[in-house]
Amino acid sequence: MKIDLPPTVLVSEQECEIESWGDPESDGVRWRTLISADRTPTEALTAGIVELDPGEANTFRPHRHEEPEIYHVLSGEGTLLAAGKKHPLGKGTTAFIPGNQEHAVTNDGSAPLRIFYVFPTGSFSDVEYEFLDP
Ligand code: MN
Repeated sequence: MKIDLPPTVLVSEQECEIESWGDPESDGVRWRTLISADRTPTEALTAGIVELDPGEANTFRPHRHEEPEIYHVLSGEGTLLAAGKKHPLGKGTTAFIPGNQEHAVTNDGSAPLRIFYVFPTGSFSDVEYEFLDP
């Protein structure tokens, strides 16, 4: 018996539009959504790449969301602040952030900090960001 499986989906980062929160204060934090059911024929997982410009002003502000999150650092150097602890981020670092855990990211280097991220939910729009005071 042949089981019908959905097709494999390939996406090029370069073809995904650059997004941001839209307020000038956060212009140093940008992302591209790679996999999300509202734009790719995919399910169950969401993935993207976030890029932070150097400098404290470009901190990905403290936030939390119900979904756990995986980070994998593609390039750059920074710090992941999670549940009050500082964790160094460098090329090749992978982090698992539990659901509902407060976290923030700073770029401590002089080049962009690029992080691939994954959420275990079908669409990026499922992820409700709650920003918290630093
Ligand atoms: Mn997050």
